[in-house]
Amino acid sequence: MRIDIITLFPEMCEAVMGESIIGRARKSGAIEVNCHQLRDYAFDKHRRVDDAPYGGGMGMLMMAEPIALCYEAICEKTQIRPHFIYMSPQGETLTQNTLKRLSAYDNICLLCGHYEGVDERLIEEYIDEEISIGDYVLTGGELPALVLADSLARLVPGVLASDECFEMESHYNGLLEYPQYTRPQVWHGREVPAVLLSGHHKNIEQFRREEAIKRTARKRPELLDHADLTEEERQRVAPTGGYAPAGRSHTN
Ligand code: SAM
Repeated sequence: MRIDIITLFPEMCEAVMGESIIGRARKSGAIEVNCHQLRDYAFDKHRRVDDAPYGGGMGMLMMAEPIALCYEAICEKTQIRPHFIYMSPQGETLTQNTLKRLSAYDNICLLCGHYEGVDERLIEEYIDEEISIGDYVLTGGELPALVLADSLARLVPGVLASDECFEMESHYNGLLEYPQYTRPQVWHGREVPAVLLSGHHKNIEQFRREEAIKRTARKRPELLDHADLTEEERQRVAPTGGYAPAGRSHTN
């Protein structure tokens, strides 16, 4: 997958996307990330990319033309029109399902807004979808774009050690992940659950599945409505958010 980021702060994006797992994945060629300075596509000597909104009001707006020129330059270079996403508090809220859907694209371009946002005509003519990272407003689109790029990159084959790394994690299958423990075996008088020391893989798998459902029922019961549960597991989920022991349903 190739991700292009159109931004006023390419150094900020490069700094984050150059570290740790994503940085290594870029070096190994599993993903390609390119950060573009929008001012390089401005057309006055001050390299301005914003102007006052028609009709008056607070703040400035990003002009359509520099963004269009930058996107067209990326298209020219890649010989493809990347799926173009505007990071916006008005967009669909980002979830793991959104990421699964986006992971089907080979080329994605992220637009980071600033000031009061972007001229509406650019959105109408160029943007394929708007994505929000939550119902609050940040000063710019860089942090949202980095959240999207990081969480999307981990789904690309070759970025993590194996697909299992993300398939068991919170939200992938609609459940929160089970609790995990490392050395020492006893810490502050708290013991690691005995089943995890047993070496019995089937029991460990069963324990983890039960714990994942239990903690989802406790912390985020609404997720269970769409989780991938067996009929028996669903019977054990109480409407109030509990999870009945094996062999019982919440009605008995
Ligand atoms: N005036 C805009 C509005 O009310 O919808 C908000 C503009 S915000 C101050 C500046 C930029 O930050 C936006 O253009 C967008 O790119 C980014 N941004 C802010 N909050 C965001 C969020 N929750 N998700 C994604 N992007 C966001």
